[in-house]
Amino acid sequence: MSILDTKIEFLKGVGPKRSSLLNNELSIFSFYDLLTFFPYRYIDRSKIHVINQINNFDVDIQIIGYVKSKQILGIKNKKRLVISFYDKTGFVDLIFFKQIKWINNAITIGSRYLVFGKPSQYGQRISFVHPEMELLDKATYKPRYTLYPVYHSTEKLSKIGLNSKGITKLMEALLLVVKHDIVENLSKDILEKYNFLHREKVFQSIHFPFSTTNLHKSIYRLKFEEFFFLQISLLKQQVLRKKQIKSFVFKNVGPKFNMFYHNHLSFNLTNAQKRVMREIRLDVLAGFQMNRLLQGDVGSGKTVIAIMSILLAHDNGYQSCLMAPTEILATQHFNSIMKFASSIDLKVALLTGKTKVSAKKKIISDLINNQVDLLIGTHALIEDNIVFHELGLAIIDEQHKFGVSQRAKLWTNKKVLPHVLVMTATPIPRTLAMTAYGDLDLSVIDELPPNRKKIHTIHKYEKQINEVFSFIKKELHNKKQIYIVYPLIEESKALDYQNLISGYNHIIEVFKNMGISISMVHGRLKKDEKLKEMDKFLHQKTQIMVATTVIEVGVNVPNATIMVIQNAERFGLSQLHQLRGRVGRGGDKSYCFLITSNKLTEDAKIRLNAMVDSGDGFKIAETDLKIRGPGDILGTRQSGLINFKIANLIHDAEILHVAREEARQLIDRDCDLSHSINEEIKRFFLVYHAKRLKWGSIS
Ligand code: ADP
Ligand code: MG
Repeated sequence: MSILDTKIEFLKGVGPKRSSLLNNELSIFSFYDLLTFFPYRYIDRSKIHVINQINNFDVDIQIIGYVKSKQILGIKNKKRLVISFYDKTGFVDLIFFKQIKWINNAITIGSRYLVFGKPSQYGQRISFVHPEMELLDKATYKPRYTLYPVYHSTEKLSKIGLNSKGITKLMEALLLVVKHDIVENLSKDILEKYNFLHREKVFQSIHFPFSTTNLHKSIYRLKFEEFFFLQISLLKQQVLRKKQIKSFVFKNVGPKFNMFYHNHLSFNLTNAQKRVMREIRLDVLAGFQMNRLLQGDVGSGKTVIAIMSILLAHDNGYQSCLMAPTEILATQHFNSIMKFASSIDLKVALLTGKTKVSAKKKIISDLINNQVDLLIGTHALIEDNIVFHELGLAIIDEQHKFGVSQRAKLWTNKKVLPHVLVMTATPIPRTLAMTAYGDLDLSVIDELPPNRKKIHTIHKYEKQINEVFSFIKKELHNKKQIYIVYPLIEESKALDYQNLISGYNHIIEVFKNMGISISMVHGRLKKDEKLKEMDKFLHQKTQIMVATTVIEVGVNVPNATIMVIQNAERFGLSQLHQLRGRVGRGGDKSYCFLITSNKLTEDAKIRLNAMVDSGDGFKIAETDLKIRGPGDILGTRQSGLINFKIANLIHDAEILHVAREEARQLIDRDCDLSHSINEEIKRFFLVYHAKRLKWGSIS
């Protein structure tokens, strides 16, 4: 038990009332929590301004001068204290609305003060409202610290004196008490290699920097630590799995795999697909559990990989499941696999939230009796009553929607764990992949199938829509098909629905002399109506598909060459990229029109430019990360893994790489952290990080 574990209540100046607010408002429970509550910025107090050169009214500044006079103005509760203050160059007013009496008594006319605050300007007059004032008796002024910390606080905390300044006071008190208990948590060789400051000094200078060099060194070290220890747990987990979690061996590349490969694959695999297939093959031969994340841009051909892996499992006598994020997508996987399933005698079942009770009963009994080789479905697959005869492979087409712990659900209560392949629908930036999915091995399909042309992406304003319609008419003459997508972010939004319907009617009007048919698909349609319309479009019975984002994921119509996205400013970047990926699948030149109103926010402009500039899903994912931040991209479920106190996945990618590499070397050499040189690392890891990944103990 270290003094750092002491409840915050017992810090001098805290007590029960403040402590309960610190708990609730800032999640600060212990001395350690406060110690690692870092400033979010600093104010430079080394600089003294002179009054006639004040020209920035956005930041806190310091001036040194003398009190000329003071005066209480106004009446009753509208009173204010106005102090006239001057230096060699001019005069300012210092104004106080609170604690007037007390301040009035404390301030003496003619004395010299350091004044710190944010200036504001009314006409020619500059004033400071409630500045800090410090009496200066010595002739020369030397600041205690150069940079003053600024901490986040909340209204409730400020009310009881714990604004940034109040927290600063607590921090000063804390550092005095814990100074000698801040022990080293890195090994000597790492400390030397990176020339890190000692940990005690690091905390001292992150809160109260005495030089910018030390501050930057401290920030670097703390970010490194944060990444490093998370990577240790992720990599430990990975190694543990590879060395200890036994799984099935898929020895044979058997008849089913070969039949599919030779009879049902109408194209050659890309080199990237071949490489990924080899990686998977090696994994499932090793005798230990595969846990692989398969990343690839829209249309890069991940589904084929999934199918071949499923057949590999089947050839070796094991069942598989394929879990998709939406019902439409699950159904589509099911339909496309059913096309060849019977010819290679693969027994496939579909289970979603909408499957009838009787059908579900049958699936459950077929599963346990090994009468189903592949179960496709949604979240319904991870319900407790779904029990396989022998699940050898679980594939999760996840679109970021399943959390780590949910993945683990697939294999609880199993003696032997299935191999796991996670596929993402859109690329994830590397830094995110390395943290939120850092326990997985990573495969990347970084090559699109041949003949894919760049999708020409064009931004148009609503008033230019007729140009777009003329263009569409030309493509319709060429027997091409068109998507027109409307935002219906929440299917229940009445306004969006009206928008879609009137858009649909308008489109009927515009193209009525073209002799074409138009489909419409949205979330309010029944499932079979939806599928029927999609099917009509797929078989070219209709030429234009008016739709909401229900078509976002996975829909595959190679003859479609134009994607028109209405109100494109309302879509997220990865959604736009997904939608665009619906065209350009057939080798014909394809187009994406982003239609927006005239008024665009800055973020919307960045999104639209990113789309126009790049077709590369990985690049777009990076931009998306910058705009939205990691939490929004991953959803809340995995945010525990990316809630850093000081590190930042967007700005600190380089430190992350360094820390991961360092952790990798450490784990390679000493996975149990049992070498004496790693004693400090181990101690810290056990106290602060071992519990972080509870889901880690999956067996
Ligand atoms: P995604 O990675 O988005 O899931 P899909 O697996 O749906 O991509 O593949 C997109 C389209 O590309 C499908 O029509 C698929 O049949 C086709 N495809 C996949 N791999 C190849 C390849 N190597 N050569 C040609 N077409 C391919
Ligand atoms: Mg897909």
